[in-house]
Amino acid sequence: MLDEFNNKPKRYYSLNKFLREKFGKKTFKINLNADFTCPNRDGTVSYEGCIFCSESGSGDFAGDKNDDLITQFQQIKTNIHKKWPDAVYIGYFQANSNTYAPVSELKNKYEEILKQKNVVGLAIATRADCLNEEVLSYLDELSKKTFLIIELGLQSIHPQTNKLINRGHDLKTFNEAVYKLKKSNIHVVAHIINGLPYENKEMMLETVTHLNKLPINGIKFHMLYILKNTPLAKLYEKEKFPLLTKNEYIDIVCQQINILRPNIVVHRLTSDPNLNDLIAPKWLKNKFQLLNAIDDELSKRNIDQKKNEY
Ligand code: SF4
Repeated sequence: MLDEFNNKPKRYYSLNKFLREKFGKKTFKINLNADFTCPNRDGTVSYEGCIFCSESGSGDFAGDKNDDLITQFQQIKTNIHKKWPDAVYIGYFQANSNTYAPVSELKNKYEEILKQKNVVGLAIATRADCLNEEVLSYLDELSKKTFLIIELGLQSIHPQTNKLINRGHDLKTFNEAVYKLKKSNIHVVAHIINGLPYENKEMMLETVTHLNKLPINGIKFHMLYILKNTPLAKLYEKEKFPLLTKNEYIDIVCQQINILRPNIVVHRLTSDPNLNDLIAPKWLKNKFQLLNAIDDELSKRNIDQKKNEY
């Protein structure tokens, strides 16, 4: 669901603002688990997955995969509808790699959600190596019928980091996927993680500098967190690599917004870990306080994304 934590004007191009401009009303994303898998977990690329990935395929707040998609969708929508009867919805295929299946299966799952009342679009999270020609051609067709967001995990541009976190594809694959998707009318979002093991601030800023040059439409900033029962938890236990403090994270995000191309929509500014499984950092527990602190720091530094020069 969208962040709606205060009514302060934002110093970055927020998703809330973008969707209000686009649809003229309150728009909610509804997180779904369509029971796909991932080539980085099923053995096609590896069995281990990205080292931070949870059992749910990084979809801890997606619906229950044992429920059908309509049930998942309606359960969340019913609660929102009581408060915002005029709202419209985007079905968000979040868990695992949501283009990693035959097109016939993608079509059934996506279009089932598109048929639901007041659904104005789809957001589909996937990997750059899960977009073959057949899938791209179907996504092109879909983008002519509805507002389509494709969210691609990048995490970092640095090869040594991506090797350490077992990303399983390289930057070239990511770059090529962005250009292929942008041949269609698709809103492409890059997902990055700040605070990956052994990355310094300059490296995190370089990741944003790189993305500024690609024709992406949106970005998601995440803070690295460590969940129980993940390979990252084992690495943390063994190497005790430093995690960013809250103030370091705020500083880095502010500097990233200070260089972000003005027309890139900020879909997210922090992470939402499952608190039952969170090992560290504990400061992520209070998301709203963190978002407020980022707002305050942007004001203090007089940073405003729309003033950035390009
Ligand atoms: S690509 Fe996504 S689902 Fe696959 S292992 Fe990495 S984080 Fe998990």
